Amino acid sequence: MQVKTQKDELENYLIDASNLAGGFSEKLFIPETNDEIAEILQEANARKIHVTVSGARTGTVGGAIPFGGWVISLEKFNRIKEINEDYAVVESGVILTDLQRAVEARNLFYPPDPTEWSCQIGGTIATNASGARSFKYGATRDYVRRLSIVLPNGDFLNLRRGEAFSNNGFVELATESGKTIRVKLPTYDAPNVRKNAAGYFAAERLDAIDLFVGSEGTLSVITEIELTLLEKPAGFLSGVVFFKDETDLLNFVDEARRISFETRKRNASILLANSSQQDAGVPTIDATVLEYFDENSLKFIKEKFPETPEDVRGAIFFEQETVEENEDGLFEQWNNLLEKHRAEIDDSWFTTSERDLIKMREFRHALPVAVNERVVKNRQRKIGTDMAVPDERFASFLKFYKQKLNESRLDYVIFGHIGDNHLHANILPKTDDEAQKAKHLYGRFIAQAIMLGGTISAEHGIGKLKSKYLYVQYGERYLNEMAELKRAFDPNGILGRGNMFDAKFFT
Ligand SMILES: Cc1cc2nc3c(=O)[nH]c(=O)nc-3n(C[C@H](O)[C@H](O)[C@H](O)COP(=O)(O)OP(=O)(O)OC[C@H]3O[C@@H](n4cnc5c(N)ncnc54)[C@H](O)[C@@H]3O)c2cc1C
Repeated sequence: MQVKTQKDELENYLIDASNLAGGFSEKLFIPETNDEIAEILQEANARKIHVTVSGARTGTVGGAIPFGGWVISLEKFNRIKEINEDYAVVESGVILTDLQRAVEARNLFYPPDPTEWSCQIGGTIATNASGARSFKYGATRDYVRRLSIVLPNGDFLNLRRGEAFSNNGFVELATESGKTIRVKLPTYDAPNVRKNAAGYFAAERLDAIDLFVGSEGTLSVITEIELTLLEKPAGFLSGVVFFKDETDLLNFVDEARRISFETRKRNASILLANSSQQDAGVPTIDATVLEYFDENSLKFIKEKFPETPEDVRGAIFFEQETVEENEDGLFEQWNNLLEKHRAEIDDSWFTTSERDLIKMREFRHALPVAVNERVVKNRQRKIGTDMAVPDERFASFLKFYKQKLNESRLDYVIFGHIGDNHLHANILPKTDDEAQKAKHLYGRFIAQAIMLGGTISAEHGIGKLKSKYLYVQYGERYLNEMAELKRAFDPNGILGRGNMFDAKFFT
């Protein structure tokens, strides 16, 4: 195991994609075995030293940034141990790109795609990463079959999905050393949104493994994961389609989403009935991805993609799985829907070729990257929202975003996962005054999302940046319940200090 204490050796571990400044740490550990992690945690517990778990630090809420204490980096846990027909076993430090390449080489498919593929699998589990494809395939949680973890006291736990469930509001877990941990679960209801990454997972019959998925480095160090793999889709039809009128764009999204859900429901019932009617060749709209770009985003991207048309109000990037027999039929259906909603079809881009598809995905990725570059240039922190609201509230929430942002005269882009009613408004202040104004506006958006029954974080999590807003979303009582849950695993509150909870909960 490597142990580092020199300033220059530690500096990369004090920052992540949030640009949150001020991180510091006394010591960095780069362990290679579970036993080494256990020893570090036992000593940290005995001396009440805070420990921050570090993945690839692509997180956007400062979760991996230490404010004192020690850092454990999982970078040496980088082995892909097994890839089978329908599952993979990986160590937590495996980089998503490496897993995706290995899976692809076996003609298989791992759906979670949090846009930024340089993250570690452990980081994606700890944040329950989702992204564009979650519209059809769900978030990382849906692919986690087994976890090996080291608890804050150095004990080991192996959890397999489907083996341990909550009972009357409690979960009981047997550790490898033979101890039983009894955990009281928080009693809040999750907001009625398609995606939620705010706080510990809640469900009436909770699978114990789900407590650790999305727990943001506060309950355990994840060391090994078994993940579900799917068959690789034969092909994809993709399009980036432009609109001159925002109402047309929103109506198009509504209808594409409604038809996609109907198709899925029908396919699920056919599958359940084990019916011979199932025919992958029947063309019916069923989007895997529905992504939005506002007018400002398109102007931003135009620098890298000059072919982006001018004088349009917004664009949608969609994808759908295809097989050879239904490609033409599907193209026709999408085309009809786009015509109905008055898309700028002649200026739009469509493809079924793998090469162009990669280009379209690059188009999607180019935006957050370009935004981050601008942030560095401006020397100000980006203020980015991650809220989602219930279906029926989405149009009014988008209107609220735009009205307030336009009034503010701040630079901004709005883009993201419109299929899940989940957009990112990124405000790009250029001066300290603008940064202040942007923070104020962010608070207004948080209040509005909560008032509409939404969540303050649909995918990036709470980390250190949003703990005060988690408090606003759930209130004192439920935050106390979450803190009680954490204490059941981590009585001294050493792990992931500052993530999710503000200082008063763990002093
Ligand atoms: C350009 C860009 C676009 C992005 N788009 C998306 C998106 O669309 N959807 C999305 O969900 N995310 C997105 N992200 C965020 C990011 O990629 C994810 O949060 C990622 O899952 C974090 O993985 P990581 O290895 O970088 O973790 P880190 O940033 O290192 O850590 C994140 C959190 O997980 C904890 N952690 C890390 N590894 C472990 C472990 N082994 N055990 C226990 N805890 C651990 C850390 O303590 C921290 O709290 C984006 C980021 C960037 C830079």
